[in-house]
Amino acid sequence: MVVGAGVFGAATALELRERGYGVTLIDRGPLPHPDASSTDISKMVRMDYGSDVFYHELAEAALDGWDRWNADWPDRLYHDDQFLVITKGLMEPGGFEYESHRVLLERGYAPERIGGAELSRRCPAWNGDRYPDGYLSPRGGWAESGAVVARLLRLCQEAGVHLATATFEAIAATGSRVRGVRSTTGETLPADHVIVCAGAWTPAVIPWLRGTLKAVAQPVLHFGVERPNDFRGRRFPPFAADISGSGWYGFPATDDGRVKLGHHGNGREVHPDHPGEVDPRHVELARDFLAESLPPLAGAPVVGTRVCMYCDSIDGDLLIARDPDRDGLVIAAGGSGHAFKFAPVIGGIVADVAEGKANRWSDRFAWRTSGSPRTEEARFHSPTGTER
Ligand SMILES: Cc1cc2nc3c(=O)[nH]c(=O)nc-3n(C[C@H](O)[C@H](O)[C@H](O)COP(=O)(O)OP(=O)(O)OC[C@H]3O[C@@H](n4cnc5c(N)ncnc54)[C@H](O)[C@@H]3O)c2cc1C
Repeated sequence: MVVGAGVFGAATALELRERGYGVTLIDRGPLPHPDASSTDISKMVRMDYGSDVFYHELAEAALDGWDRWNADWPDRLYHDDQFLVITKGLMEPGGFEYESHRVLLERGYAPERIGGAELSRRCPAWNGDRYPDGYLSPRGGWAESGAVVARLLRLCQEAGVHLATATFEAIAATGSRVRGVRSTTGETLPADHVIVCAGAWTPAVIPWLRGTLKAVAQPVLHFGVERPNDFRGRRFPPFAADISGSGWYGFPATDDGRVKLGHHGNGREVHPDHPGEVDPRHVELARDFLAESLPPLAGAPVVGTRVCMYCDSIDGDLLIARDPDRDGLVIAAGGSGHAFKFAPVIGGIVADVAEGKANRWSDRFAWRTSGSPRTEEARFHSPTGTER
């Protein structure tokens, strides 16, 4: 039984079914759930992870998967628009941008270094005066995340995964042996193995992980544009704008003219059922950023807001592990604001862990109850912004 039908749960259920298991996938519903972190219009897919070659390689493996999904699926849901990384000063050794660029070069990629004048020439919406350095990362882009989850769920159904609407309340167990789950209606749903993929809800429903995982609210804004074509393609790739200092990142316009702007900051710890609203002060900060960096968007109307939840782990790494104290229970969560891109490989990792098989990636995602920030991501959670 897989609990939670976000990208972790859907990919895991599909993989296990393809390995021949009988699989039930439960979620509170509706599916895809509108509050799930995975259910948004877009997510970045990039190999740029500072000096952290582990995640660079994991993303590289995932990118092969995105290409495969694009070839196999009726709609291309991954857009290989590249990834624009720009900085307010010169990129410096030790900095996220410099190190990401270095790793790309060392691994045989050809990121294009871009100065301010070149930025303004190629991507006219950008104020190149403010961004004297940066590069265009050649392999990356963004995925239509909500549509990807919907597609995976359809594939689950076609493959024979039993999809059920139920809200998980607790593990059902005899001693330390897991026997299934108990739902909020009091029903026991039997299963030989339970894999909890409840994203930011995981620390709420698996309380012994509250020291390891937490739900953190992060603001997302959608700005409306009249001419979407001015804000996409090579003129407007998905971007990280001095992200280790500022937190700002964003996406090309969708067909219905929405430019999404996110802020990778500390966020604020919340109960996942009550994440609150986007703080109006955050909208002001976003407008300041746009006026300085993307002047054509400075007056664009806000056409949508969303509070999305990171499931932050103590160290920024995913948690994909067997519970050492509960036989038959696996937890797959702790996306820490950067795991959607791994969708094509995540199901394989979780399934290997559940089967007890060796896996190239799983050691880093092992069970843990203490630690300090390890990923570049976790380290550069920005001190700016009002959503703290
Ligand atoms: C603002 C924001 C921006 C992000 N940007 C990026 C990005 O650009 N690139 C990237 O790679 N990643 C990004 N991420 C991270 C990425 O979205 C997550 O890591 C990933 O989607 C997590 O997927 P999940 O399946 O673990 O969780 P979710 O998608 O949240 O799924 C959890 C599921 O569990 C269900 N559930 C919860 N409680 C219960 C219960 N009691 N019973 C039954 N079902 C339950 C929910 O309904 C939900 O469907 C971002 C996240 C946020 C919040």
